[in-house]
Amino acid sequence: MWAVRIHEHGGPEVLRWERVQPPVPRADEVLVRVRAVALNHLDLWNRRGLPRPMVRLPHILGSDIAGQVAAVGELVDHVKPGDEVILNPGVGCGRCRECLSGRDNMCREYTILGAGRPGGYAQYVTAPGVNVIPKPKGLTFAEAAALPLVFLTAWHMLKTRARLQPGQTVLVWGAGHAVGRAAIQMPTMLGARVIAATGGEAKAARARELGADHVIDYKSENVLERVRELTGRRGVDVVFEHVGQATWETSVKALAAGGRLVTCGNTTGWEAQTDLRYVFARQLNILGSYMGGKGELLELLPWVEAGRLRPVVHAVLPLQEAAEAHRILEAGLQFGKVVLEPPAD
Ligand SMILES: [Zn+2]
Repeated sequence: MWAVRIHEHGGPEVLRWERVQPPVPRADEVLVRVRAVALNHLDLWNRRGLPRPMVRLPHILGSDIAGQVAAVGELVDHVKPGDEVILNPGVGCGRCRECLSGRDNMCREYTILGAGRPGGYAQYVTAPGVNVIPKPKGLTFAEAAALPLVFLTAWHMLKTRARLQPGQTVLVWGAGHAVGRAAIQMPTMLGARVIAATGGEAKAARARELGADHVIDYKSENVLERVRELTGRRGVDVVFEHVGQATWETSVKALAAGGRLVTCGNTTGWEAQTDLRYVFARQLNILGSYMGGKGELLELLPWVEAGRLRPVVHAVLPLQEAAEAHRILEAGLQFGKVVLEPPAD
């Protein structure tokens, strides 16, 4: 089959288009014909090998996959060849206490398609049968591929970790990032109010389209002052963080007493300063979050089918142009997912 592999870490030029042996599914796995694979920042980290190499070389990247079942192992009976599916990106051991309690993202052996095992920058990929779920109706393959990783991450952060309640207010950073765009759409359907902080008029307009009740342009406005105005000087109940160093101090100060700061990443750096006086005096909660349990992706899919949550696709490129796709993501100019499509044969 055709695939894009990396044989060494480095810039986009290490993505190499080549013929490789197609994978063979084990008895409990499914072979999926990849129709679309969406990029994530995780792909860039794993391509660069930073902060530490997580993949075995040569490696096939790609965590967000939509496609058609090509073959099933003998123990898999819930899908059949031809079915249109998406793949849940998280893979746990399936037998430990965390996995069996629905917290597979806390499994010690937890890994992600395209990171700890071969991913979707290829014509075919294998995944455990339990990771294979029907593609939501009404989505193209590109849209469906844009869905799993960031929507699962945002849902786990807001609903499971921060326990967002009706009537509460959330500050979401970065409508320019896929996880921010996923998060902006969720508070409204949970009965909460969302303030989006983003940079520039174009991104502010897109944040409003996605359902933000209020938008703060951090390039021209003081985020903390605006949050105080919009909340009657109380602060927000939840801050949705993934930016890190550049925004962390504001995130801490923007919280109301008893507020929750939930974070899944640090795209601007991990050495953030925390003023501990705010943490104890306001009794704040700082919550880490990583991916989400398999059941949580199933929980949010009805909202996708009902049209309440929608993945946004910026561009679809042929898989051969994976390096160009990485450059687009690295430039940060996209508003929506960058998706690759493997050739038909
Ligand atoms: Zn486990």
